[in-house]
Amino acid sequence: MTQPNTAELARAVQGAVLRPGDPGYAEECAGFNPIHPLTPAIVVAAESVDDVRHAVRFARDNSMPVAVKATGHQVVDPAAEALLITTRRLDEVSVAGRVARAGGGARWQQVLDEAAKSGLAPIAGSAPSVGVVGYSLGGGLSPVLGRKYGYAADHVRRIEIVTADGEFRVASADSEPELFWALRGGIGNFGVVTAIEFDLFPHPRFYGGALYFPGADTEAVLRAWREWVPTLPEEATTSVMVQRLPPMPELPEPLRGAFVVHLRFAHLGEAAEAERLLAPMRAAAPAVLDLIGEKPFTSIAEIHLDPTDPIPHFSGGASLGELSTATVGKLVELTGPDSDCPLLGVELRALGGAFDREPAVPNAVPSRGVPFALYALGVGGPDAMPTMGAYFDRIVDGLRPWTTARRTPTFLVERDATPAGVRAAYGDAVHDRLAAVKRAYDPANTFRFNHNIQPAG
Ligand SMILES: Cc1cc2nc3c(=O)[nH]c(=O)nc-3n(C[C@H](O)[C@H](O)[C@H](O)COP(=O)(O)OP(=O)(O)OC[C@H]3O[C@@H](n4cnc5c(N)ncnc54)[C@H](O)[C@@H]3O)c2cc1C
Repeated sequence: MTQPNTAELARAVQGAVLRPGDPGYAEECAGFNPIHPLTPAIVVAAESVDDVRHAVRFARDNSMPVAVKATGHQVVDPAAEALLITTRRLDEVSVAGRVARAGGGARWQQVLDEAAKSGLAPIAGSAPSVGVVGYSLGGGLSPVLGRKYGYAADHVRRIEIVTADGEFRVASADSEPELFWALRGGIGNFGVVTAIEFDLFPHPRFYGGALYFPGADTEAVLRAWREWVPTLPEEATTSVMVQRLPPMPELPEPLRGAFVVHLRFAHLGEAAEAERLLAPMRAAAPAVLDLIGEKPFTSIAEIHLDPTDPIPHFSGGASLGELSTATVGKLVELTGPDSDCPLLGVELRALGGAFDREPAVPNAVPSRGVPFALYALGVGGPDAMPTMGAYFDRIVDGLRPWTTARRTPTFLVERDATPAGVRAAYGDAVHDRLAAVKRAYDPANTFRFNHNIQPAG
């Protein structure tokens, strides 16, 4: 294949234009999973909206598909003929009143810090290193504010975007409303988002964190959690993860190399009320480590304690429509002390509450009414992938009586990035409407290195 001449593009843009082998190329392509290095033909390290417009027009004129990466937590490997636009330098963050504005490459930590200056909080996820745009456009499921306010996508007010024709557009309830509907749920399918504006909420603090139980008590903890979740008010959000932790020195002693069940909990009220709510879980088994307490909202990472540095890993996801005693029994059989589960963690997040309510301006988030999201993480190199993938399939097969197809898009993983996987995750009605928007704004499927909505449907 003849390579397009990038000299003119390099003159037009402020940011670097890189090809394989150029200094900085590997760093610009790096993502969260080193197993899947990105190897595009050209990278444009965008520094401005104009850089994005030039890069998209260059791709259009040279019939190149475009991949977009902010942090590389979920981007799907672009083919070698692609042009990759990185947005990480578009990292402006500002707060005006109760609304935040974030550039197309900003991370949650920046918004958390800026919002906290006014005693406000965003609907951020468990890991502040995650990108604001990818998370918010994929739904965005917060471990603190989620059940009270719903998805992050439900509170997005304005999206600035460069579409496949190279035009800069503004999508909001009043401007290009169908694009606005599709963007909030359809992630990166419709162009390069250069900035996003969304609501903040008056929560400077929360009460919660992590409570670890011995893995030997998996059954008691999961059974208690199943009964406890339906009793919680919307001010409380929780998840639970069965973990086989590596012997990493950065972990506190009782967790290093340990088999544990990690309860996550956050409550938006008084400490005494939060502790009253927690009592049934504290009674489920003796804790090995108790990190629950009152925390500033900026400490949101202390609930899940997610890995922060890139690691070679496997991930898998599913949704559960029900958590019966039989579901818990199957989970214990497949992940508990008597299993040979090779995964680092298998997590269940409880949704419900405001997650189930349509927002004031409806959007394409397809997972309303799904009560539980299941996510699995396995750490290991390429050799370990088949074993971990096969074990995850065993878990999903075992849970088949209770799984449901629709998924929260932020938890779609690389193995879901097939036409059938994407259609199932959105359901036919949302998928077909997204495909119609795709035909209108990206008929050549320029933006296809994602959980792709194909224009043909
Ligand atoms: C440790 C960890 C914890 C997580 N916790 C949560 C959680 O609590 N709740 C939750 O809902 N999700 C969570 N996620 C999932 C996360 O929200 C998604 O993976 C999200 O898409 C990541 O966005 P990113 O920008 O960081 O990654 P990227 O890989 O850079 O982007 C992800 C997707 O968004 C697209 N994209 C990114 N930026 C732009 C842009 N400016 N314009 C157009 N498209 C763009 C990309 O093309 C890609 O399709 C977590 C992920 C990790 C790794």
